[in-house]
Amino acid sequence: MSQYLNKTQLKALTKIGDIIIPGDKATPRFSQTDFLVHIDRMIKYIPSDDRSGLKLLLTLLNFTPKVLIRLLLILTDYNQKLPTLLGIPLRLIQIGIKGLIFTLYYSNLEDKEKSSERIYQAIEWETNIFTDEESMTTNSHPPKKNFENPTALEVQQIYADAHIANKHIKNLSIKQRLLYISRLKDIILKRKEDIISIIQKDTKKSRSDALISEIFGVLDYLHFLETDTYKALKDEKVKTPIALLGKRSRVYYESLGTMLVISPWNYPFYQAIVPLCTSFVCGNSTIYKPSEFTPLKGLVEELLVEAGFERDWIQIVYGEGETGKKLIDGKPQKIFFTGSVGTGKKIMQQASEYLIPVELELGGKDPAIIFSDANMERATSGVLWGALTNNGQSCTSVERVYVQDEVYNEFKELTLTKVRNIKQMIDTNGDSDIGFMTTKSQVSIIKDQLEDALSKGAIMLTGQEWNKETIEIPPIILENLNHDMKVVSKESFGPLICLFKFHDEAQVIELANDSDFGLSASVWSADKEVCDRVTRALDVGNVSVNNVMLTEGNPYLPFGGRKLSGIGYYKGISGLRAFSAQKSVLIDENSKKIEANWYPYTEKRYQLFSSMIQGLFGGTLKSFIKFLISGLRLEAYASKAKRH
Ligand code: NAD
Repeated sequence: MSQYLNKTQLKALTKIGDIIIPGDKATPRFSQTDFLVHIDRMIKYIPSDDRSGLKLLLTLLNFTPKVLIRLLLILTDYNQKLPTLLGIPLRLIQIGIKGLIFTLYYSNLEDKEKSSERIYQAIEWETNIFTDEESMTTNSHPPKKNFENPTALEVQQIYADAHIANKHIKNLSIKQRLLYISRLKDIILKRKEDIISIIQKDTKKSRSDALISEIFGVLDYLHFLETDTYKALKDEKVKTPIALLGKRSRVYYESLGTMLVISPWNYPFYQAIVPLCTSFVCGNSTIYKPSEFTPLKGLVEELLVEAGFERDWIQIVYGEGETGKKLIDGKPQKIFFTGSVGTGKKIMQQASEYLIPVELELGGKDPAIIFSDANMERATSGVLWGALTNNGQSCTSVERVYVQDEVYNEFKELTLTKVRNIKQMIDTNGDSDIGFMTTKSQVSIIKDQLEDALSKGAIMLTGQEWNKETIEIPPIILENLNHDMKVVSKESFGPLICLFKFHDEAQVIELANDSDFGLSASVWSADKEVCDRVTRALDVGNVSVNNVMLTEGNPYLPFGGRKLSGIGYYKGISGLRAFSAQKSVLIDENSKKIEANWYPYTEKRYQLFSSMIQGLFGGTLKSFIKFLISGLRLEAYASKAKRH
């Protein structure tokens, strides 16, 4: 019982308390705590006038249905937008009621040391928790931030901070955002050797692989942002049809809000910096979950802080798939996911619950097509690099090689000679071609595919020395294969090369397209027309001609896959726009004119409209003149038309 509040007022307080703090699995709801213990101690400090106001308010609220209280609490969030006379009392309700309830609630926390900090956070927190029915039932209070396997409640805090950060970032001009990018670029360039060492420690890749694909790739991409962000995101003028003469049409590219980026383990530095910086220049705040296998713990945060980014602009959250799931439940405005097909499907399914748009960059089973007139020196070296770079752990690595029958033996022998010279170790000076496998689970997949192929008659031309329990898989070249084998139909993501013979162009197009994947491909021939025909016929998102894996080497080209390889594009101008929210705008003058298609609809107007349409699409000069005349008459009529 309380000496200040009567039974009715206490009942009201409990009711509102449970609306604000409904509790969840981890925390009790307001009424389940011993809040009465502190109530008088707290009310004693409220000035007597305010105390009477509070009592009156509670009495009234006791008779107010819960749905109206919720509505009132929603309104309090908009207090600053309402006229002062309404806004001030609402603000007082928000601070007074919320303050009272949070203070009582946290006064009962077992951990007394943390309670004062949490009360402070609770009252300071510019929460949006009452903006929809669902969040009313799941939100209770702002937890302390934790970036490692956060709870659902901690994820809410991460999002709350991201939303505040977004307000800040979207108000920065593109020029200001690019200053941070340039600073980051300089820091990466300066610190590249220690960054490479950290990448190598997590991934076990060779130093040159880290330098070329991760550091160079990142710097080149940041340079693209410096040169092309403004071009991609500036207001775009688009055509306005003649029937809308006098109006102007524009597309604005705006901040989406908060993006969630989830990345795989194969290029942990590149897969972090590229999407994070793209999201930032587009004005978004970002939450990033790296792979649990190659988290590069602390590195990206350190670089961002050094470049002057504020901590909440890009928040890095560590954890496994479960953490990724919780982050999706935080409802970002978009998800940019890079990873396996299986996870991509799960993410899309979960995102569909909230209709969150997803961009999926998934796996591949990329073919290389070698015609007999291709330069064999170049084609064999290119295919070998394309298949083995990063130890084959690239989404676009060459996994299927189709060689025209008349040069098959020559291609095979040359490749076998070259593969013998491949140096494989985790080096410290750049003198190694490839490193080892990053994860044991990928080793098991490769072992399984190999056993399946060998049991069905495949011939292993190299790699017999591999002790199948280790991550040290050497380059494995296979032939005598068919498309029913797992090693041909599934992504291997390792140093495996499948060799096939083909006879003619039509056959190789069919073979190359006979895959669930459609990421990238390469075509090798001296005949430009053949290259162009085959490029167009391939059902993939990216093709390199007489080169390999090079489309993703050019940041000005969009990158994305077809079929199971993904949805959407990133990089290039369209990639930047994919990280933005488009707004179509049509601008007219504030004149006396009434539009011809506005009410009232009359028979006369119908006839004029009909003859205008006839004239507009008639296709002759005469009909165009008819269009102009009926258009003018329609406009004149519109201004004075009345229904009689
Ligand atoms: P993965 O799908 O196992 O994991 C990727 C990320 O998703 C990790 O951070 C993981 O923790 C997270 N995750 C797992 N389950 C989740 C869930 N239910 N909800 C949310 N997040 C979840 O992929 P991987 O093994 O790390 O990476 C290898 C795959 O990535 C290969 O298939 C490769 O082809 C693909 N990849 C594609 C591209 C591309 O651009 N297309 C680039 C690199 C890698």
